[in-house]
Amino acid sequence: MAWDFSTEPEFETQLEWMREFVRTEIIPLETLDLDRATFARITAPLKEQVKERGLWAAHLPPELGGGGFGQVKLGLMHEILGQCRYAPGIFGNQAPDSGNAELLAIGGTPEQKERFMYPLLRGELRSCFSMTEPGAGADPTLLSTRAVLDGDEYVINGHKWFSSNASHADFLIVMAVTDPDVSAYQGSSMFVVPVDTPGVQILRDIPVMDHPTIGGELYGGHAEILYTDVRVPKENLVGSPGDGFRLAQQRLGPGRIHHAMRWLGQSKRAFDMLCERAVSRYTHGSVLAEKQMVQDWVATSAAEMQAARLMTLHAAWTMDQVGAANARVEIAMIKYWGAKVLHDVIDRAIQVHGSLGFSGDLPLESMYRAARAARIYDGPDEVHKTTVARRILRGYTPADVPTEHIPTRAEAARTKFAEYLEGATANL
Ligand SMILES: Cc1cc2nc3c(=O)[nH]c(=O)nc-3n(C[C@H](O)[C@H](O)[C@H](O)COP(=O)(O)OP(=O)(O)OC[C@H]3O[C@@H](n4cnc5c(N)ncnc54)[C@H](O)[C@@H]3O)c2cc1C
Repeated sequence: MAWDFSTEPEFETQLEWMREFVRTEIIPLETLDLDRATFARITAPLKEQVKERGLWAAHLPPELGGGGFGQVKLGLMHEILGQCRYAPGIFGNQAPDSGNAELLAIGGTPEQKERFMYPLLRGELRSCFSMTEPGAGADPTLLSTRAVLDGDEYVINGHKWFSSNASHADFLIVMAVTDPDVSAYQGSSMFVVPVDTPGVQILRDIPVMDHPTIGGELYGGHAEILYTDVRVPKENLVGSPGDGFRLAQQRLGPGRIHHAMRWLGQSKRAFDMLCERAVSRYTHGSVLAEKQMVQDWVATSAAEMQAARLMTLHAAWTMDQVGAANARVEIAMIKYWGAKVLHDVIDRAIQVHGSLGFSGDLPLESMYRAARAARIYDGPDEVHKTTVARRILRGYTPADVPTEHIPTRAEAARTKFAEYLEGATANL
């Protein structure tokens, strides 16, 4: 019987190296106010160390320069990287570049891989995934961006927003409807669009809770983009016409597991702050650690994080066994459960620090702002809950009388065991 929670020793050694490297080399960068050029100078030798260690762009198969680790090991890596927002980039694993590289690995032509995917993996290009529109977010059947074949070119027209990283990207992967006569799930396609293609107009980076003021960010914000008669060669289609959602699903599945594991890294950091404060702060006759309500936060947070971790690793394992398409329930569950745990643990850590927790003197306030988005991006909680509930409910059939109705069951049991009950006096 295979039922194993252990990590093989060689990989555990890699994880130990990562923990130390992230703690000593990357997390200290958070406190510095760096421009992009200085950040690039500081991080270049760190990236070299990651490459020497064989941990660069680990999400891809070995033939594409990755580690070919599978989702469970990647999940364990992302748990470490998630502690610091700079760590994924230093490991060649930064969203949305990592997901876009995976997408091109699955659906890209050899030319697309050569021109876009390999440079992306080498960190020479940056990318963006441009799907959400002001009128179409959680329900992608409402997408209105159109791509029409005209000779050897597709002509794209539409309005997107929340295209993360677009303002720093070299190319965009754009989802557009190519066949409006069928469902968007069958009639949408993805295109690689170099950002300098005429007709691509990045209107602005939208201010968000995470980045209330725009400008100077090391990573791109969330852009609003107009596509007006944008012409790309038909070779820029990823996969076949109508493949858009099939490919998006394969891209988003692993991405959600990596998000959920990164959230655990963030949660653990907040949890450590919560516990450290609990044993340090003296008030009303004792340290906070001796107050039952604070003990409840510690115990509840620990249990919730453990549940989220096991659910996420199980989803990763399921995906390794049967693929993303057959792990939809597991992936959807960790998306909303993980986002909630992240939010709640950070919230408790803020509470236990009082005004200090609310202040910019601790990273908790910015972690909290970033965490709020987790319940929205990659599909809001409600949509994932709907997916889970629908799939579960498919396994049930309507019953006029509840299956567990005791008088009905008792009657059936009396019939079943009649020969033993003959002469019995008990009122069954
Ligand atoms: C920080 C951030 C980064 C993002 N990055 C990207 C990106 O790189 N590329 C990209 O294309 N998009 C990106 N997005 C967009 C994101 O994927 C969408 O915001 C998300 O899919 C929800 O769409 P919406 O915002 O239009 O909400 P809507 O579709 O308008 O939904 C609003 C609310 O309605 C409720 N709701 C929706 N459907 C249901 C339902 N079936 N049942 C019950 N309630 C429901 C939910 O509460 C939901 O929050 C990003 C968003 C954020 C916040």
